[in-house]
Amino acid sequence: MPYWPIILKTTSSHEEGCDRNWLINTKEFITDSNGNLTALKTVEVEWEIAPGKRPTLVEKENTEKIWACDLALLALGFTGPEKTLSEQLGINLEENSNYKANNYKTNIPHIFTAGDMRRGQSLIVWAISEGREAALSVDTYLSTNSYLPAKGSGNLPGA
Ligand SMILES: Cc1cc2nc3c(=O)[nH]c(=O)nc-3n(C[C@H](O)[C@H](O)[C@H](O)COP(=O)(O)OP(=O)(O)OC[C@H]3O[C@@H](n4cnc5c(N)ncnc54)[C@H](O)[C@@H]3O)c2cc1C
Repeated sequence: MPYWPIILKTTSSHEEGCDRNWLINTKEFITDSNGNLTALKTVEVEWEIAPGKRPTLVEKENTEKIWACDLALLALGFTGPEKTLSEQLGINLEENSNYKANNYKTNIPHIFTAGDMRRGQSLIVWAISEGREAALSVDTYLSTNSYLPAKGSGNLPGA
């Protein structure tokens, strides 16, 4: 992590026997009359990259395919923070559905956010860093002045 997709890491599980396919989108789970899965319907997709816009995946025409299948495992990765809290509390979100914050403060008083929820799918080191920075933001909010170590101040332990 995070380089395995870039170098196409192959593990012993892959070597035991599997086909890997990319840029396909599942359109439908096909079932028999008892509701048991029998196949997947997919289409191929490609990246549409336009200057100044987020890259989006678009479907390629006439690429529909049926794959026989009796077990589908969903491994969707990070699909954004869960929405219940933001909806119940009225917290504003970024366009990409991450929690919106200014100096780790959300738009709702007393509610702060950090880590994957704020910056999106990331790494442990960022979660730790954001946790510390958010703690500093909370402390400053509560007491105006904080003695907690700040990034770049040189007073972090071990710095
Ligand atoms: C499969 C996988 C592999 C990864 N591998 C690596 C790796 O090798 N190296 C690396 O650096 N990073 C890796 N990451 C990323 C890393 O795990 C995250 O960036 C990091 O854990 C984010 O920390 P966080 O504190 O922001 O969120 P989380 O660790 O997700 O913590 C959020 C916590 O909030 C809890 N929670 C959610 N909703 C509620 C609620 N309503 N009430 C109370 N609690 C709630 C959750 O149960 C969870 O414990 C990986 C992530 C995944 C999913």
